[in-house]
Amino acid sequence: MRLSRYFLPVLKETPSEASIVSHRYMLRAGMIKQSSAGIYSWLPLGYKVLKKIENIVHEEQARAGHMAMLMPTIQSADLWRESGRYDAFGDEMLRIKDRHDHEMLFTPTAEELITDIFRSNVSSYKDLPLTMYQIQWKFRDERRPRFGVMRGREFLMKDGYNFDLTKEDALHAYNRHLVTYLRSYERMGLQAIPMRADSGAMGGDDTHEFLVLADTGESEVFYDSEITDLTFGDRAVDFDDVAQCAAVMEEFTSRYARTDETHDEALFMQVPEDRRRTARGIEVGQIFYFGTKYSEAMGATVQGPDGKVVPVHMGSHGIGVSRLLGAIIEASHDDKGIIWPEGVTPFHCGIVNLKTGDAEADAACQALYDSITALGLEPLYDDRKMGAGGKFATMDLIGLPWRITVGPRGLKNGVVELTSRRTGESEEMPPEQAVLRIAQIYGKAA
Ligand code: ATP
Ligand code: MG
Repeated sequence: MRLSRYFLPVLKETPSEASIVSHRYMLRAGMIKQSSAGIYSWLPLGYKVLKKIENIVHEEQARAGHMAMLMPTIQSADLWRESGRYDAFGDEMLRIKDRHDHEMLFTPTAEELITDIFRSNVSSYKDLPLTMYQIQWKFRDERRPRFGVMRGREFLMKDGYNFDLTKEDALHAYNRHLVTYLRSYERMGLQAIPMRADSGAMGGDDTHEFLVLADTGESEVFYDSEITDLTFGDRAVDFDDVAQCAAVMEEFTSRYARTDETHDEALFMQVPEDRRRTARGIEVGQIFYFGTKYSEAMGATVQGPDGKVVPVHMGSHGIGVSRLLGAIIEASHDDKGIIWPEGVTPFHCGIVNLKTGDAEADAACQALYDSITALGLEPLYDDRKMGAGGKFATMDLIGLPWRITVGPRGLKNGVVELTSRRTGESEEMPPEQAVLRIAQIYGKAA
C-alpha cells in the first residue's frame, strides 16, 4: 500500500476525550472514529489489526477442533425469558421492538441461542463432544463506556460454547480452551495471565479470567510473581489428550492469581512475601464451566449410553477481540506511538522514501516494495512529497515494527537503513539484505 493513497487521518493534537494512552493513539493514528458513546467506526488501519486478531483466534480455535459459525445479532426476547436472563441482564441489554411489536434484543452474548440450536438438533450422546464458536458484534449498554474500544457499548467478541455428556468431559473442554487462549494471546505479543474469577451473571462454578497487566486496567489483581515467568511457547498439544490439557491447566493456574472479586488475603499471605504482587489488569478473556444451568432451564438433553435422558454439561468462553487492540497498545507503546508486535501489525514493515521524486530513490523503494510483496508480506510505502521528520513521526505513531529508510545518500553507497521500532536501533545494509531480514523475521522463505 502507498501511503499517498491510504486513508490514514492522523491527528496532530491529542484528543481531549481520550484519557488513556491506547485510546489516544488509536484516535491519533486514525484507526477508529467514535460515532456515538462507546460505538466506533473502524477505519482501514484499525480494521486491519482487528482482522489480524480475529485470524489468530480462528486459527487457534481450529487447531483444537472447534467449529466456527455465526449467529444473529438481533435475537428474540422469548428465548431469553426461558433462561431467566431477559430480566436478569437489566439495563445493559438493548431492547428493540420490530414492526409487529415483537420484543427483540441486540445480543450481549449467545448462550440462549446456541442452546436452542443444540436442543433442536442433538439428542444423542453420540454427537458429543461439540464445541462451536463465533466472532460477532455484541452490544451491552454499559453505564460508563470509556477508554475507547476497551469498554465500548458495541464490541467484537469471540464467544465459544461446549456441550458435553459429563462434567469430566466439560472440564476437559475448559482446559482445552485455556490452552487455545494461552497460545492465542502469546501470538498477539501479550502475556495474559489466567486468574481465578467470579462467575457473576453467567452463573456456575469454574471460571478464569485472562488478564493483561497494565496500570490502566480496570481490575485489581493479586498474584505470585512466579507466574509471569511462564510462557506457553511453541508446544505441540494433543487436544484429545485429557491428561496433557489438564497438566497445562495445572501448570498455569496452580500459583496464586486472583482478581479482587475472589481475592483471599489469608491464602495470598502464604505466597512468599518477595513474590507477592498487587497490580492492575485488563480482562481480555474469560472461560466458564457452568454445568447444566442453561441445558436444564431450556431442555437441552441427550440420551446417554445407558438410555437415560440427561441435561448436557456446558461451558462458554469469550475473548474480547476489539478490546484486545487497546490492551496490546497499553502493553506495547512509547512516547512516540504504538509498537505493534509482529503477530498483529497492520503492515509488516514501512518503507520511507527520503526524497520522493528522485529517480534513484523512487526506483529503489519500488524494488523493495515489489520484493517484499512477492514474499506474501504487506509493506506500507511512504511515497508522500514531504520532509523526513513528518514521515518518521507517522511511522512511529502507527507503530510498524520495522522500517526501511531509503535516501539518495545511502544509495550512493549501495545501502538502505533497517530500523527496529521497538529498540530504535538502525543498521545499514544493501536493499536485498533488508528484504532477507524482513523475510526471516516473518518466517518467509526469500
Ligand atoms: P467486564 O467485566 O470487563 O465488563 P465481562 O466479564 O462482563 O467484562 P464477558 O462476558 O466475560 O465480559 O465477555 C468476554 C470478553 O469480552 C471479556 O473478557 C472482555 O475482554 C470483552 N468485553 C466485555 N465487555 C466489553 C466491553 N464493554 N467492551 C469491550 N470488550 C468487552
Ligand atoms: Mg468476564
